[in-house]
Amino acid sequence: MRTEALFREQPYLSTTEATVVGVNDRGGIILDRTIFYATSGGQPGDTGHLLRADGSRTAIAATVTGESKDDIIHLPAAGEAMPQAGEAVGLAIDWERRYRLMRMHTACHLLSVICPFPITGASVDEQDSRVDFDVPDSGWTKEEVTRKLMELVQADHPVFTRWISEEELAANPALVKSKNVRPPAGAGRIRLVCIGENSSVDSQPCGGTHVARTGEVGEIHIGKIEKKGRENRRFRIRFGPLPAA
Ligand SMILES: [Zn+2]
Repeated sequence: MRTEALFREQPYLSTTEATVVGVNDRGGIILDRTIFYATSGGQPGDTGHLLRADGSRTAIAATVTGESKDDIIHLPAAGEAMPQAGEAVGLAIDWERRYRLMRMHTACHLLSVICPFPITGASVDEQDSRVDFDVPDSGWTKEEVTRKLMELVQADHPVFTRWISEEELAANPALVKSKNVRPPAGAGRIRLVCIGENSSVDSQPCGGTHVARTGEVGEIHIGKIEKKGRENRRFRIRFGPLPAA
C-alpha cells in the first residue's frame, strides 16, 4: 500500500492527521498518509512524534524508505509504545529541524547553478551541507562563490515544482546534473524543482523538500572548498556570514 506523501505538494505542513496502516516486521510504522520526509537524495528523513487519542506520544527517531521509494517507514525511538493498525493518530514533525534542512537543500540547488558541473554526491545537513562536483580546480575562492550564492538568495526567486514526462526529460538531458544518480525511470513522470520565473534560474529533477523563495534560505556561506581526488571538489555550505579570515 502506497503512503500518500503530503510533503511533496505541501512542504510547509508540519502537523496533520493520519491512520496507522500497520507495523512492519522491523517495528516500522506505516501510515496512510504522512508529512514525514523519508531519507532520500541526500536529504535526511524527518523526526517528530505521533500523537495518540489518549494523549500519549510515540517519538519518531527516523523516517526511511522501504523496498521502493514510495514505501515510507516511520521508525519509533527505542521503547516507545506502538500504535495499532487502524488507529487514528496526529502527526507532528520537528519543524525547526526540517525548515533548516529545506533552507540547506535549496542552497545546494543554488550552488549547482553557480557551479554548473556534474554532481557526484551531495549531503544535506542542518549545519554543514556538502555538494561534490566532478571538476578540476576551478580557481574559485569561497569568498567569490559565497558572494554569488548570496546574490541568488537576495534576489528572492520563487521556487516551485512541476511534473514532466519521461519523454520530455529524455529530450532535455541537460536537466540532469547528477552524474551517478539518474531520476527513476518507469515512473512515467518526473518531478522538477524550478527556481526563478519560468525556471529562469534553474530546473532539475528532485524529490526533496525546498523553501518557496530563495530569500528564505537566509545568510549562508561556503565554509570550505576541499580537493577530493584530482577531478573532484567538495563545497561545504554553512549558515551565517563568512567568518572573517
Ligand atoms: Zn532538491
